[in-house]
Amino acid sequence: MGRIQLDHLTKRFGDTVAVEDVTLDIEDGEFLVLVGPSGCGKSTTLRMVAGLETPSEGNLYIDGAHMNYRVPQNRDIAMVFQDYALYPHMTVRENIRFGLEEEAEYTAAEMDDRVAAVAADLGIDDLLDRKPGELSGGQQQRVALGRAIVRDPEVFLMDEPLANLDAKLRSQMRTELQQLQSDLGVTTVYVTHNQTEAMTMGDRIVVLNDGHLQQVGEPLELYHEPANRFVAGFIGEPMMNFLRGRNDDGAFVGDYLEYPFDERLADAVGDADELVLGVRPEAVDVRRAEAAGSALGPHEFRMRVTVTETHGDQNVVSLTADEETDHDALRAVTDGMHVVDQSDSVVVSIVPDAVHVFDGATGDALC
Ligand code: ATP
Repeated sequence: MGRIQLDHLTKRFGDTVAVEDVTLDIEDGEFLVLVGPSGCGKSTTLRMVAGLETPSEGNLYIDGAHMNYRVPQNRDIAMVFQDYALYPHMTVRENIRFGLEEEAEYTAAEMDDRVAAVAADLGIDDLLDRKPGELSGGQQQRVALGRAIVRDPEVFLMDEPLANLDAKLRSQMRTELQQLQSDLGVTTVYVTHNQTEAMTMGDRIVVLNDGHLQQVGEPLELYHEPANRFVAGFIGEPMMNFLRGRNDDGAFVGDYLEYPFDERLADAVGDADELVLGVRPEAVDVRRAEAAGSALGPHEFRMRVTVTETHGDQNVVSLTADEETDHDALRAVTDGMHVVDQSDSVVVSIVPDAVHVFDGATGDALC
């Protein structure tokens, strides 16, 4: 079992409120990712679960037992940190075994067997006699994981464990970690500021900003139904386009375009006045002007390309609706075969089903 409940948890450091009133129920066996920008309170939340910080208010439970004042050693958790925290003077074997030595229940032979089994699972059995200084970053990462796994805890807590790896290794380790977590079935709380990591790894994602919980949901739920503008901007790469404007009798009127509402949008917007229209770059369709007909539909716009970034499989295209200033109104993602060049005149279409609308004053999603 490894159910974790955060019940109105708040943590203050003097005048700084690091985490405010966070309530969250993490299921047994779940892979939960805490994500948000630097300083949003991710690590503090994790450290409260670990017992490295005591909550200022609220309660923390693991498997129903009250944890607020229980020392980390008595919580049946294992932590993996960004800097691995390996002992440099110990071999890999000793480092992994160290995770077991605090627990009196194992004989020396059992400890050796467990270390060997975990090392084999992680593919580091040929490194057991080396010291951390003789290992690559990825290998050190595996040793840190080994030290956590060997204890067979109820809960893994991981704070940016892949942050020090290069992009390729990080992506490989993401997959390995996910596989490992699903094989072991151990409840895992994973902190990252990287939205791609959150989207690809989490069963559910918790988005934090400024100490406040913004939204909890499955990755695609956050992508398709962000609760507010912050989540909409944080999840998804390239970032969602946001256009400020107002509600003018059945249409959004912004600086760069006027967008008539269909029934769904009109219902959602109601009588809100200030609006922000949100459109994901992948939902913006771009065609060369000469390929489009002369008459434009209500959700089509003439624009000009200011910059095209080529990524191989796709292009990211910046578009302006302003002849004079080149002020970018929108970014679009087009597939790699579909090339438009700088200065091309294009027709952009955005289907109403792909449009999000946020209250301009509160940032809350209207749809
Ligand atoms: P990062 O991604 O940069 O690690 P984070 O989301 O993990 O950030 P926290 O480390 O939880 O954020 O910090 C949240 C807020 O609490 C920040 O404003 C931080 O400066 C503050 N804070 C964290 N720990 C302490 C501390 N021990 N004393 C005072 N303030 C702290």
